[in-house]
Amino acid sequence: MSTKANAITGYTYDDLMLKHECPWAKDHHESPRRLSSILDRCRELNLFDRCLFVKSTPVNDNDILLYHNESLLKKLSKAPVQNIEQLKQFCQEYEDVYMNEYTFDAAKLAVGGSLNLLDSIMTNQCRNGFALVRPPGHHASSNEINGFCLFNNVVITAKAAIEKYNAQRVLILDWDVHHGQGTQYAFYDTNKVLYISTHRYEHGAYWPQLAESDFDHIGEGDGRGFNVNIPLNKTGLKNADYMYIFFNIILPIAYEYDPDLVLVSAGYDLALGCPEGEMKVTPDTFAHLTHYLKGLANGKVMVLLEGGYCIDTLAESAAWTLRSLLGDPCSPLQACANPDLTVKKTVACCKNILKDYWQSLRIDLTEKSQVWIEEALHKRSLNELATNENRPTQYDLTPTLIIDRTEEQSKKIQQNIKRAIELAPHQKPLERGPTLLVYDELMRKFSVGNHCERPGRIVAVWKGLKSRGLDQRCTMIPSRHATKDEILLVHTNRFYDDLETTKTQTKKELQKREGVSRSVDYTNEVFDNALLAAGSCLNMVDAIMTDKGRNGFAIIRPPGHHAHSGMDYGFCYFNNVAICARYLQKNYNLQR
Ligand SMILES: [Zn+2]
Ligand SMILES: [Zn+2]
Repeated sequence: MSTKANAITGYTYDDLMLKHECPWAKDHHESPRRLSSILDRCRELNLFDRCLFVKSTPVNDNDILLYHNESLLKKLSKAPVQNIEQLKQFCQEYEDVYMNEYTFDAAKLAVGGSLNLLDSIMTNQCRNGFALVRPPGHHASSNEINGFCLFNNVVITAKAAIEKYNAQRVLILDWDVHHGQGTQYAFYDTNKVLYISTHRYEHGAYWPQLAESDFDHIGEGDGRGFNVNIPLNKTGLKNADYMYIFFNIILPIAYEYDPDLVLVSAGYDLALGCPEGEMKVTPDTFAHLTHYLKGLANGKVMVLLEGGYCIDTLAESAAWTLRSLLGDPCSPLQACANPDLTVKKTVACCKNILKDYWQSLRIDLTEKSQVWIEEALHKRSLNELATNENRPTQYDLTPTLIIDRTEEQSKKIQQNIKRAIELAPHQKPLERGPTLLVYDELMRKFSVGNHCERPGRIVAVWKGLKSRGLDQRCTMIPSRHATKDEILLVHTNRFYDDLETTKTQTKKELQKREGVSRSVDYTNEVFDNALLAAGSCLNMVDAIMTDKGRNGFAIIRPPGHHAHSGMDYGFCYFNNVAICARYLQKNYNLQR
């Protein structure tokens, strides 16, 4: 296995995690194939070659006890794995779990690998990471295994971050299509962890059918306001719905919280084609979600695999997540239009109920939200929810997943999956191209006494980059003068010719020019300097468009954005950014 020093992204997994499978239902959808398909896809894209491999080692008991109680640990360690009938009976005590002879060790590796990856991130061996682990964890509570989950990987990781690394604020974002009730219970009364979950709910009709998965359960004591449930009351939701939730609830709260670490409970059962979630989110969406999270916690983002049961979109979604962690570009997001009304209602309910705790939610509040809250609570009251009172003494062992699709529906879903995967613009791994810089000391030449738009501005920018060593990490591209034709893409011939006369005008003539009312001044250097600024920008445009770099920074003056086509204005002579845009349209046929 390759390891890479100074990698941005770490990852962990272990082959033993592929041996955990259901002994009495070999076709169980929480299958080893889930993890192996992700590994295959990431290898196919050479993504692991660019990552730091972090070994999974078995977690020690003390770390498990950070969340789970000792009796559960003891009981699981003694599960009768050699006798299938006894094992079945053992598992029937819990809802939707199976075990085999490898499960206990795999679960210990899943937690241990997650903790090792946490160590790598917190000690700056890598900036972010992906724990490709199973069994998953977010349904497991302190005293119970539940919903395919043994130990709660994300909870133990968060607790370790607090205990070992003194993290003051940990954000757990759970985008798995199920509510991570086990995670919610762990941090319900603390503000040291902000738990945010989006999950299919259908007013309580959807598993795990708990009242506490709804939007009105926001934590207690110190934790009040720090438990955020965003219930989805409809299937078939798309990219636009998730992006709407992201921009209107998740990101405002997350940025206001300002975490020291971001943990993601990354289930991919909301992805297109997953029979559990029945949502329609395309795999590339996860690159966007991950991208926005990287602005938090100095980029310390650790993703942990939870669910996801459509093998094709699971693998593709996880690969997009890893690409985004690595810093690869996101794809243009499809179908990002209007969100569904049920989603708007949920977001309004969440904002209403959380506004006392989060300043960022106190905007665009709608009066209708009170009505929608009552409507949602009423609909919930019509469903039979799971409680301790109606809990069965034994659970059914047959996998609960029923795929209720006509042949035609299946065919259509398969087509959509194929399209979503083919849509990925970069089938081959895209290496990080350099960031480009253009800077030319000649742009200091234009100078008007003590004017605030002075040469020292770009000198300061340049020195600032250099003193931080940033220039060493970039590629310099040459400066150049723009041609007259290029300037005329935006400006009038008359203006160009008139400004050109400043090159040879006497001091007296320059002073006589009527520039004061538009906040522009003239020297013999201004024309040449403005051409150099515009031309250098165009060199940058060419370099980016021909993939010599992925992005760039043109350190230029005079600035441009106030300049009109027929006149200079407000410190600006040629409109650099407008010239770039016209140049891109003309030479590269860019449409948007
Ligand atoms: Zn799930
Ligand atoms: Zn300005």
